[in-house]
Amino acid sequence: MPDLKELKVIDFHIHIGLKEHWHPWVHKYQKSAGSDLDERYDELTDPRHFADYLLSFGIKKAVILPEISPITTGIVSNEYVLEFCQGMDIYLPFCTVNPSMENNLSIKVKDSIKKGARGIKLYPSYNHFYPNDKTLYPIYELAQEHCLPVLVHTGSSIFKGSKIKYANPLHLDDVAADFPDCKILMAHGGRGLWYETAFFLSRLHPNLYLEISGLPPKNLLDYFPELEKNIDKVVYGSDWPGVKSVGINIEAIKNLPLAEASIQKILYKNAAGILGNAALLD
Ligand SMILES: [Zn+2]
Repeated sequence: MPDLKELKVIDFHIHIGLKEHWHPWVHKYQKSAGSDLDERYDELTDPRHFADYLLSFGIKKAVILPEISPITTGIVSNEYVLEFCQGMDIYLPFCTVNPSMENNLSIKVKDSIKKGARGIKLYPSYNHFYPNDKTLYPIYELAQEHCLPVLVHTGSSIFKGSKIKYANPLHLDDVAADFPDCKILMAHGGRGLWYETAFFLSRLHPNLYLEISGLPPKNLLDYFPELEKNIDKVVYGSDWPGVKSVGINIEAIKNLPLAEASIQKILYKNAAGILGNAALLD
């Protein structure tokens, strides 16, 4: 049996934030997930201590996400995320925009890139827009120009106010076709209604990836029975703090009945390829 203990990990989906950033129902959800954050709040909201926590599970790089979703979850600003990640190599801060609330989207994204953002996260179902809406195209243009990945929420969410029609991964068919050099990740792999669609699209488009955060790892092969056939496109993320511990999540991936090389691709190699220089590890 191969020794999987030493595997390097990139977590492509981590939320940070303080209690006051999120609505009470988000705390309630984190509590119900038994998240370590709940019990170790002071420690795990400190950038250095949180980095130690991630490193203890073999995580070498972590994508850190902001959110501007006042209807559904709350507001963790781009500025807060950039400051949290400041000076810490392990963190890859992403930026976000909410097209339902903001104008001048590309100016905002440009500004975040200038300040160190390494990718873009979009929340169509939380913010009520279609990700193939033309108003977003300048954002994809920027992402393509700067070789920054775009992580897009797909599939269900338990948070009230979210509208699932916006989260159909099929909308990303347009984006993937129109921006062939932009790497796009379907967060949560189309959770619920669209596992098959997301899987199919990730095979169809070379630049479209299946990101598996928020899915119980033990069910992964039920959702995607042919996972090995598209193993180069599968990317790990935890969706912390919506999980008890990032460690338990990683262990469950390692225990899947997949080849060691496949597990390495899911946990690390595919993400490293997407992040390019940002993931310089070796
Ligand atoms: Zn998330």
